[in-house]
Amino acid sequence: MALDEFGLIRRYFTRADRPLPASVRLGIGDDAALLDLPPGESLAVTTDTLVAGRHFPADALPFDIGWKALAVNLSDLAAMSATPVGVTLALTLPAADEAWLAAFAEGFFTLADAHGVPLIGGDTTRGPLSITVTALGSVPPAQALRRDGAQLGDLIYVSGTLGDGGLGLALTQDRLHDVHLPPSHQAHALARLHRPTPRLALGLALRGMATAAMDVSDGLLQDLGHLLKASGGMRALGATLNLEQLPLSPAMQYLAGEGEALQQQVLDWALAAGDDYELLFTVPASRQQQVEALAHALELPLTQIGVVSAAAGLNLTLKSESYKYDLKAGYRHF
Ligand SMILES: [Mg+2]
Repeated sequence: MALDEFGLIRRYFTRADRPLPASVRLGIGDDAALLDLPPGESLAVTTDTLVAGRHFPADALPFDIGWKALAVNLSDLAAMSATPVGVTLALTLPAADEAWLAAFAEGFFTLADAHGVPLIGGDTTRGPLSITVTALGSVPPAQALRRDGAQLGDLIYVSGTLGDGGLGLALTQDRLHDVHLPPSHQAHALARLHRPTPRLALGLALRGMATAAMDVSDGLLQDLGHLLKASGGMRALGATLNLEQLPLSPAMQYLAGEGEALQQQVLDWALAAGDDYELLFTVPASRQQQVEALAHALELPLTQIGVVSAAAGLNLTLKSESYKYDLKAGYRHF
């Protein structure tokens, strides 16, 4: 890559005009950044790579790619109850297209600035489009929300709504062309897919309240399975989920009302599609009112969807009847 291309990249990712948080002793520009952590806190580190054609279409809007590459990493910090202290960005680009870079940086920094997260380092190379973000956070180790703390009888909660990412993906792949979905519902689902909201405030508020947590990236059932496996250790833990309780957006509720096949498809997206970046967490039953108060304070739905049970596996019920669902096969009508 020619020197002027690096200059171009520097122009969009160096922000000398912005004061750095006090925890960043040295930001971009040296061989490495220097960070201070509050005394007694641990560094939480997470990284994710998004590859064009695999995690997003190559022609996706650069603003959305920038936003999402950061959002999925901040979501992981939220799930650990960590406060973000900085992020690094490694960009592999086929060419340094100025308009693309400007829009990508705008999406990235719109979300970063909303949470006061500084970019503290990065790298650029030439190659097929791919973006790697590493997010660094800070958390007192005893208060980090891990996957392995759920107890028998704990209530299972999820934030926000489920399945919108799956609906959004179906829309981008034009799999719903013979279904009428009002434009405002389409816009909602696409925004949820392309610009997910990392639940950082919720993650922090769950310190001392939740026994276990993770973010829903691969789909509710798969992610809940991971959490129960980590928590159960030698003795297997399972869960009973009431599918009527699954929180659905107005767009998903609209589709579920459009016939049996769509109702099945909506459930499938909510259970298995992933890409929702909501927090899945468990709390002791005695803390139910605390969770309700928190939902009110954050103006974010926190919905109890089930209970941790002693029998291994997931027991799904719909309208008081057992609901058979094969996670591998799923339900793929569209
Ligand atoms: Mg995660």
